[in-house]
Amino acid sequence: SSREAVTVIGLGAMGSTMAEVFLAAGHPTTVWNRTPGKAGKLVAAGAVEAATAAEAVAASNLVVISQVDYAAMDQSLAGVDLTGRVLVNLSSDSPDRLRSASQSVAERGGMLVTGGIMVPPQGIGQPSAYVFYSGSQEVVGAHRETLEVLGRADFMGADPGLAMLYYQAMLNMFWTTLVSYFYSAALVGTAGISAEDLRPYAAALLSDLTDEGPMGFLKILTVEIERGVYPGAENNLHMQAVGSEHVVHAFEQVGLDTGMPRALATLFARADAAGHGLSGLTALIEVIRKPAT
Ligand code: NDP
Repeated sequence: SSREAVTVIGLGAMGSTMAEVFLAAGHPTTVWNRTPGKAGKLVAAGAVEAATAAEAVAASNLVVISQVDYAAMDQSLAGVDLTGRVLVNLSSDSPDRLRSASQSVAERGGMLVTGGIMVPPQGIGQPSAYVFYSGSQEVVGAHRETLEVLGRADFMGADPGLAMLYYQAMLNMFWTTLVSYFYSAALVGTAGISAEDLRPYAAALLSDLTDEGPMGFLKILTVEIERGVYPGAENNLHMQAVGSEHVVHAFEQVGLDTGMPRALATLFARADAAGHGLSGLTALIEVIRKPAT
């Protein structure tokens, strides 16, 4: 085969799909997982199962890793010769953890590319899939064709922490958006209203947020963030702080969890107390930047 050989370490939901997609694209693929017995389907599709992590790393210059976190890589690759190897770790961890991992892989003669993959398993290799990469642009460039089998490769910068900074920025939005929907579904559910009845309103809200027209909140508030100017004449923050308490009360009155609404009300109150009451919602970014002590 003329395709680049690749090793996949970690055969969980993500790693096993990555290996599947590499095989389907014609890449000679070696796989390894800490717990044996997860490679059966992949071997049937043409993968080579390495007996040890050392063997797996020796098999290909390019090693793609997908495990629960970076400690898993440290454990799996302890004592393994990394000389000349390109490790592309697509696992989750903190930006600082990626920076220290990058340094220790370099000290062992290897090169770490850090990545944050922005799709669930079934999205890997699909047209909407993309991955945030950071580290050496040259190394990402040299393996771009292979990496893009998984999804579009977006290079974010040389700082190895950037892949996760972007990843967590996105994951934070993904989780809070969806979890706030769960809260809202639970709230209407206490009155016997089905989530299906709420969904069209939720969908309209989400598309209004991203509207490119003059009423699109994301666009308007981005300009406010960039300028550091938060007009509040029509929607002042004090009014919204009071309103956010009402949201907490609504959840309290029906006996639901109030954790997330309360976290918001606390943030709003802190901004109000800090003197942002006459500003708009975006003034919250000022108190987000100055955590409560
Ligand atoms: P799974 O729970 O399905 O798989 C976890 C993998 O990590 C297994 O291969 C497991 O091996 C391995 N592992 C855990 N601890 C260790 C260890 N100490 N040493 C060696 N191997 C270890 O997770 P996913 O595949 O879903 O996720 C993998 C990564 O991808 C995570 O960092 C996740 O945050 C990220 N991710 C997941 C997405 C998803 O939708 N699933 C989407 C985007 C990113 P073993 O079989 O031996 O336990």
